Amino acid sequence: MPALQKTDPVAVVGAGTMGTGIAQIAAAAGHPVLLYDAQSGAVDRSIASLKKIVERLVEKAKMTPGVGSALLGRIKPCGELSDLGSAKLVIEAIVESLDIKRELFAGVEALVSADTILATNTSSISITAIGAGLERPERLVGMHFFNPVPLMALVEIISGLATDRKVAATVHTTAADWGKSPVYARSTPGFIVNRVARPFYAEALRLLQEGAAAPETLDALMREAGGFRMGPFELMDLIGHDVNFAVTRSVFEAYYYDPRFTPSLLQQELVEAGYLGRKTGRGFFRYDGSERPAPHTAGEADAPARVIVHGDPGPMLPLVEALAASNIDVRQGADDDAEMWLELDGVVAVALTEGRSATERMAVDATKPLVLIDLVRDFAATPRVGLAPADQTTSEQRDLAVGLFQALGKSVSVIDDVPGMLVMRTVCMLANEAADAVNQGVCDAASVDTAMCKGVNYPLGPLEWADQIGLARVVGFLGNLHASYGEDRYRVSPLLRRKLYGGNSLR
Ligand code: NAD
Repeated sequence: MPALQKTDPVAVVGAGTMGTGIAQIAAAAGHPVLLYDAQSGAVDRSIASLKKIVERLVEKAKMTPGVGSALLGRIKPCGELSDLGSAKLVIEAIVESLDIKRELFAGVEALVSADTILATNTSSISITAIGAGLERPERLVGMHFFNPVPLMALVEIISGLATDRKVAATVHTTAADWGKSPVYARSTPGFIVNRVARPFYAEALRLLQEGAAAPETLDALMREAGGFRMGPFELMDLIGHDVNFAVTRSVFEAYYYDPRFTPSLLQQELVEAGYLGRKTGRGFFRYDGSERPAPHTAGEADAPARVIVHGDPGPMLPLVEALAASNIDVRQGADDDAEMWLELDGVVAVALTEGRSATERMAVDATKPLVLIDLVRDFAATPRVGLAPADQTTSEQRDLAVGLFQALGKSVSVIDDVPGMLVMRTVCMLANEAADAVNQGVCDAASVDTAMCKGVNYPLGPLEWADQIGLARVVGFLGNLHASYGEDRYRVSPLLRRKLYGGNSLR
């Protein structure tokens, strides 16, 4: 299968949100673009919106007027499906329905030449199922762009059972030529991003349901401590709860009700109420001009006079470095504990969450009054940390931990004592799902990390993140979480264990 040439016409079917963006980037890359939509007026609206986009780019000096008019000049509006006969690549971005997509491709296949590639931008339908209706299913491939197409770099190149490898390779090269970051995936429910991202929403929803903290506090921790661009609740409000809930449900059902993907009753209730997020003026937050509630931030507390650092700091090394640079009297403990813990004034212990609640850990391990700290992406840079005190810890003892982090310049959000806290639990569950996707041959390890960084803007790929945290710590954490809940949802991916025992990194 020859690589697509710049002079090869690209047809885009469906001139809505996605089709318009795809037409823009194909034309920007130099291809003649044939734009078709079944609804009258849709192509004209699409081209009018592209004109506005180009005008704005020219105004901002991001495009010269010459380049802009050449781009628009390459897009040809088509009134009939039969106008697409010369296309070498047909990209479908129509309504999300198997029957309608099959019918469209059957019509297209009858028009185009034998070597024309057919691509679908479906986000949830099996490529194998769409291809099954074709005379030559080997030429059908998924080309899953992300919204907004011109800004989001990721394209999932998805092969169904019949897809010819050379067809997938050609669209992979083509997407790269268009300035995108393509990754290969096998056609499985949710492909890569819509599957691996589920825990980002699910764990936060679960914490909310268990009363760990309010949405604004959980969002602030995910943004500020986790380094995510948006918190899960504000992001679900932006996506729309109807859309987000439907994706979760479809992945859950497609995996035959694997508890990993169990939808949240809280989100279902929002959908039932019509509180769909920004678009209806209310979701987890209100969008009626009223102020968003502030995250829980602990009041000022006194810092401990002396901190003893015990054990191996692991991912908390930057915390130990910050302590060393502070005015607090810091000493090294004489023991060689496997995991780091801090001893504050000889009376309180602070440790990184390892999947059990602080309450259980304090009782079982007979520690000093315990306060757990959640994972932080970059301790030096984070403005906020999350703490969870054990039920047996008094408020005075908790405040000693609060005062310690305040003395290091951090705001502190105290959350209720749920197993695994928030950021660590989310990151480990993302890594667990990413590992399962790799283990099941959906994609390779590098691709899953690229997909999550380029498709949903994660600060770090989940597998690279797990390697940084340390595989033993991640597997131990998930094992503890599994034991805490007794639910299959938290079972550890066999690939994580295998890499741990084999002494290999995930990447
Ligand atoms: P949209 O509603 O904005 O546009 C769809 C267009 O397709 C409409 O203009 C409609 O008139 C046209 N259409 C419908 N049936 C047609 C047919 N039989 N022949 C020709 N045109 C037809 O939808 P969208 O958001 O652009 O989504 C399009 C596809 O892309 C869907 O499969 C969707 O799942 C997928 N997708 C959407 C997003 C997103 O964020 N919107 C992201 C990735 C993938």
